[in-house]
Amino acid sequence: MAMMPMKPWLNHRIHFCCLLLLVRLGFAQEASFRITPLRPVEELRAEALKAQPPREQGNFREPDLVELVKLDPTIKLDVRYATTNNFLGTAVYTQARAFLQRPAAEALLRAHQELKSQGHGLIIHDGYRPWYVTKIFWDATPDDKKIFVANPAEGSKHNRGCAVDLSLYDLKTGKEVKMPSGYDEMTDRAYADYVGGTADQRSLRTLLRQAMETRGFKVNPTEWWHFDYKDWKQYPILNVKFEDLKQ
Ligand SMILES: [Zn+2]
Repeated sequence: MAMMPMKPWLNHRIHFCCLLLLVRLGFAQEASFRITPLRPVEELRAEALKAQPPREQGNFREPDLVELVKLDPTIKLDVRYATTNNFLGTAVYTQARAFLQRPAAEALLRAHQELKSQGHGLIIHDGYRPWYVTKIFWDATPDDKKIFVANPAEGSKHNRGCAVDLSLYDLKTGKEVKMPSGYDEMTDRAYADYVGGTADQRSLRTLLRQAMETRGFKVNPTEWWHFDYKDWKQYPILNVKFEDLKQ
């Protein structure tokens, strides 16, 4: 069947509408930094699900993962790995949830409560991460960016339920604040001591860091948003999917 030729003015109108939509989407959510995965993520996922985490020696504490929003519903979630808005451009989690081992979760709750008295709250991007997801990240990331991802041969503190990626939101507007870099941005702007950005951005980064570090967390020097809980060595690498966690 022959197609009707489209009137040129109608064509322009469609383009204009698309542009408006894109602009609106841009305002609605911060676009994540992207890499080009070394191989298709679906292929890497299939391999990672079949692989086994490294064997570890030692006496570990019994895992006790707690869902953060159940401790306080004013802790916000923006789990970008459950969406396509992340550095791989593909969803790697099937559920937008965030967990930490109980002592770390309770320390985070105290940081959140203190920040609320100063007009901010915590917004969580990621907590416990099953080991196979760490393997997908590593296998997808080009060598020159591997400093920003954990080696699955050693496992990650996220795999132990003792690392959290987070930022601040403004209690009045409910919106995430602007920091010197975006979350998961693989550039030197992400460094915890990066001297650029605005004075406001740096002081918000300091506010977050102080609230977390006085509660037993330590910032990652190459990622202002990533904090490790002091007792991470006491927990084993876990490879349980969110949907299989008992809550
Ligand atoms: Zn992290």
